[in-house]
Amino acid sequence: MKVLDILKDLIYPEKPVCLACGRRYDHSEIEGVCDRCLSRFSFITESCPVCGREVVPAALIDGQHCPECKEERPPYNFARSVFAYSGYAREVLLEYKYGHRPDLAEPFSHMLFLYYEEYFRDQNIDYMIPVPMHGERKNYRGYNQAARLAQALSKKNKIEYKDVLLRVKNSLPLYTLTKKARKLELEGAFELKEDIDPTIFKDKNILIIDDIITTGTTASEISHFVLEEMKAANVYVLTTASVPVKID
Ligand SMILES: [Zn+2]
Ligand SMILES: [Zn+2]
Repeated sequence: MKVLDILKDLIYPEKPVCLACGRRYDHSEIEGVCDRCLSRFSFITESCPVCGREVVPAALIDGQHCPECKEERPPYNFARSVFAYSGYAREVLLEYKYGHRPDLAEPFSHMLFLYYEEYFRDQNIDYMIPVPMHGERKNYRGYNQAARLAQALSKKNKIEYKDVLLRVKNSLPLYTLTKKARKLELEGAFELKEDIDPTIFKDKNILIIDDIITTGTTASEISHFVLEEMKAANVYVLTTASVPVKID
């Protein structure tokens, strides 16, 4: 850096860089992302009260369960997502997941924190558990995006983060399968890490953290595992995004 640049920086401190678009910004509601990017994200306001997914067309929902939750109530108490997985939010999340951008966990965790405060503060959560990633995928990507989110969120809400699950089966992409096939595909997919004492979760309230809910099967299967095998009292789910439920 030239002397002149250093002096300039001292006199005019650099404005922060938006992690989503890379531009410098003056002000933002959420640290790390500029207001312009924030306005392009599709925050979920109205959703199914159980799975938290937006319903398309929206007219239908009006406080009712979405058709998928009506057909089979998921094992968790309820789930919430920050955005609908579409448009700009999808672009930035894809960047986070596949573009080797672990730094995006920070601004996303600010958004998760807002939703945590709104929906989960009163649920007396004891632990947060990230959805695990199969070892091969983690080696390839270098990080588990759900674990990064849970870690960053834990610094804000002070709820202990426990990365205790293993994904022992590398499943096929679930959205390509039918509901029945998805369940079969995930059967026996999760295990508790060997050195973890399951009794610490007994009768506790657990918040599962993930980046995206696509079909909802993973969230349901993990919740089932946490309730059945770890004997938790209640399970909730919080994710950055979810794919809307479409009704034909
Ligand atoms: Zn931006
Ligand atoms: Zn639903």
